[in-house]
Amino acid sequence: MSDLINREKIDVLQAKIAAAENIVVCSHKHPDGDAVGCLLSFANFLSDKTKAKYILPNQLPDYLAWLNKSSDIIIAENDIAYAAKCIKEADLLIAVDFNDPMRLASLAESFTASEAFKIAIDHHPMGDYRYDLVFNDLDVSSASEIVYILLSQLNHRKINRYVAEAVYAGIVTDTGSLSYSCNNPSTYNVMAEIMKFGLDGAAIHNLLYNNFPLKRTRLLGYILDKKLVVRNDLSISYYVLTHKELEEFDYEEGMLSNVINYALNIRGVQMAASFVEHEEGVIRMSFRSRGDVCVNTMSSKYFNGGGHKNASGATSMQDVDTLVNLYISVANEYIL
Ligand code: 5GP
Ligand code: MN
Repeated sequence: MSDLINREKIDVLQAKIAAAENIVVCSHKHPDGDAVGCLLSFANFLSDKTKAKYILPNQLPDYLAWLNKSSDIIIAENDIAYAAKCIKEADLLIAVDFNDPMRLASLAESFTASEAFKIAIDHHPMGDYRYDLVFNDLDVSSASEIVYILLSQLNHRKINRYVAEAVYAGIVTDTGSLSYSCNNPSTYNVMAEIMKFGLDGAAIHNLLYNNFPLKRTRLLGYILDKKLVVRNDLSISYYVLTHKELEEFDYEEGMLSNVINYALNIRGVQMAASFVEHEEGVIRMSFRSRGDVCVNTMSSKYFNGGGHKNASGATSMQDVDTLVNLYISVANEYIL
C-alpha cells in the first residue's frame, strides 16, 4: 500500500497535473466499469481543467452511460484522427486500469510515440513498457480504488458525489459486488468514505445490473442452452460465439459482461473460457477461475494475454478451433 501514499510520488503527480496544459486520461479497449470509473473519477475531479481529455478506444457499455460526464469521453473508433491528435498534443498522459499500450488497440502507436510524461495507475502486473511514474498495487480491488486514494490525497475537498459514484461503479464491477478481489481492508475504507457522499447503493446496483436490453437476456439464454460446453473430466467449461451469432442477436458493447461467470459457477468447474469473434477473424478470449487456479499465467504463456489470477483475457487472430483445442490441452497444467 505504501506506493499509493508515497508523498514524493504524490507530489510529482500533483505538480504534473498542475503544470500540464493538455492532460489525456485513457483506458483499455472494451472498457469495463473499472476503466470507465477511473476515467470519470478524473473527469469529475478535474472539472476545472477544461482542456483535459478522456479517451477510450471503443464505445463504453450502456450500463455505465448514467455516470456523470460519460458523454464527454472521446471514443477513438468514432474519430480515430481526432483521438490520435489529442494524444499527440498531450503533455501528460495518464493510463488507467491497464499498462500494456497494446490494450489501447488503434491508439497504441500514438501513445508510444508521444513524448509526454506518462503515468500508469493500475492493479495489473506491470509489463515491459516504461512509464515515468507508476502507481501500481496488485492487492487493490480495482484501479478506481487506487485513483480514489490518489485523488483524495491531491485534494480531498474536490471529491464530490460524481467522483464517488464513478469510484463506486469501478469497485463494485471489478469485485463482482464485493464477492472477489476484496479481502483488502482498504476497499471497505474507501467504500465507507465514498458512501458519505450520499450514494444510493441499491439504485446504482440496479443501473449496473438490472437494466439490460431484452436481447442480452435472449443471448444469455442461447449461450447457456446451446453453446456452453462443460468438460467434467477436465474441470473446465467454455463457449464459442461467432461474429455471425453476435450479429443475429444485434450485439452491442457490454452484452456479454459477466456472462462467463455462468460458465464458472457450475459445481466441479474450476476454470471457464469464452472465445468470442467480436470482429471477423479476431477472437477475444476471457478466462475465469476459482481460488488458486491462475488463469493469468495461462493467458500470457499460451495466448499472449494477461490479467489477474482469477480473471484474464487475450486476443488472437488464430483459428478459433486451434485456440479452443489449445485451451483444452493445457488446462490440466492449471487445474488443481
Ligand atoms: P475480460 O475477460 O473482462 O475482458 O478481462 C479480464 C481481465 O483480463 C481484465 O482485468 C483485463 O485487464 C485482462 N485482459 C483482458 N484482455 C487482455 C489482453 O488482451 N491482454 C492483457 N494483458 N490483459 C487482458
Ligand atoms: Mn480493473
